[in-house]
Amino acid sequence: MRFTPTELTPDELALQAEVRAFLAEELPPGSHEPGLGMSARHDKAFSKKMAERGWVGMALPTEWGGHARTAVDRFVVVEEMLRWGAPVGYHWVADRQTGAIINKFGTDDQRERFLPKICAGELGFSIGMSEPDSGSDLASVSTRADRDDGGWIINGTKIWTSNAHQNDWFICLLRTTPLEPEGNKREGLSQMLIDIHNTPGLEVGPIPFLNGEHHFNEVSFTDVFVPDENVVGQAGMGWNQNTTEMAYERGGPDRWLSPFSTVEQLLRETQDTELGERALELFGELVARWWGIRNLSLSVARLIDGGYAPSVESSLVKEMGTRYEIELIEKLVEFVDEELTLDSESLFSRLLSQCVLTGPGNTIRGGTIEILRSVASKGLQGLPV
Ligand SMILES: Cc1cc2nc3c(=O)[nH]c(=O)nc-3n(C[C@H](O)[C@H](O)[C@H](O)COP(=O)(O)OP(=O)(O)OC[C@H]3O[C@@H](n4cnc5c(N)ncnc54)[C@H](O)[C@@H]3O)c2cc1C
Repeated sequence: MRFTPTELTPDELALQAEVRAFLAEELPPGSHEPGLGMSARHDKAFSKKMAERGWVGMALPTEWGGHARTAVDRFVVVEEMLRWGAPVGYHWVADRQTGAIINKFGTDDQRERFLPKICAGELGFSIGMSEPDSGSDLASVSTRADRDDGGWIINGTKIWTSNAHQNDWFICLLRTTPLEPEGNKREGLSQMLIDIHNTPGLEVGPIPFLNGEHHFNEVSFTDVFVPDENVVGQAGMGWNQNTTEMAYERGGPDRWLSPFSTVEQLLRETQDTELGERALELFGELVARWWGIRNLSLSVARLIDGGYAPSVESSLVKEMGTRYEIELIEKLVEFVDEELTLDSESLFSRLLSQCVLTGPGNTIRGGTIEILRSVASKGLQGLPV
């Protein structure tokens, strides 16, 4: 496990100041309903504004519309955006992982087709991994892609596909070679790029969230044709590519900053009240832990810049970060000790209600706590993860 102590350089701190100034001007407190981390609103206009600043697809090559900056520069930008509860939902997945995967494993044709649009904030991606019988045991996916002239015919179902109804494309993990009874599940998988809304045979249906909101989807495939040019990387190598994708997915600020806007709002609303002192004490306690996890997460970004795919380190950060998010929410609930409602007059109370509702999913999405512990412990023993 390679966590090296690191700090932001003067250039990175200058970028941080630039992002803070942008947010203070674009979204002054009180002018918008902050979101909870990456679950923030989809706002295409905001995504475009960020892209105009060069803050979407930052680490992608300039040749394809990117800015050849570092994973740490991206860390600096997204940390500020999430802290602020900015509406980053539309470009989130494309910026965090899909662009990097297409760049790393895709063909030049795919880079040309997708990366400039991702970097312009004009293309939203979803993640097509989970299936009704395959979540933690992702290598057991059974959505099948069978060979056809010039492409593949797909049948099966993906589930929990966040925002598929709002995004444009997704990368799906599919079984391209049937699994023999004693076969290796990790072989014979492939990743394919699929247009969510313009593909005959593909249906997207909502799975309502606890409070009726539409976030999740079930995506079904009935004889869906996907051309060869949409296969990412080498057919059959999907498991390795997917593991790399999860390294990008797991170790960033979105895994420990989700309730930040709630904490900040508590400080605002308790300032000059009798609760102010206690709120500050709680804030101090929370920040101390935040800082430790944040430094591990920053170290993961440095590893990515060093050319590694730090899947073990990022699993550990996600395990610690999301567990911390849950404990933080519990502390806030204890602190206020009142009935919470989503339509409260108080923004703090609305945000905390949303935290209570969605928080349990934080330790599940992107891999459950148990699975992350398993990845981390296997990694520590030098076993394949
Ligand atoms: C908010 C949210 C957003 C999501 N978005 C997406 C998305 O966009 N795309 C997508 O593909 N998926 C998405 N998911 C799905 C998510 O990745 C899966 O829910 C997750 O991987 C767990 O899979 P499962 O639900 O099938 O649970 P299961 O795998 O059935 O696990 C059930 C329980 O058993 C435990 N368990 C399972 N196997 C083991 C083991 N070997 N050792 C110890 N414990 C084990 C798990 O930790 C868990 O507690 C999302 C989930 C959430 C909550």
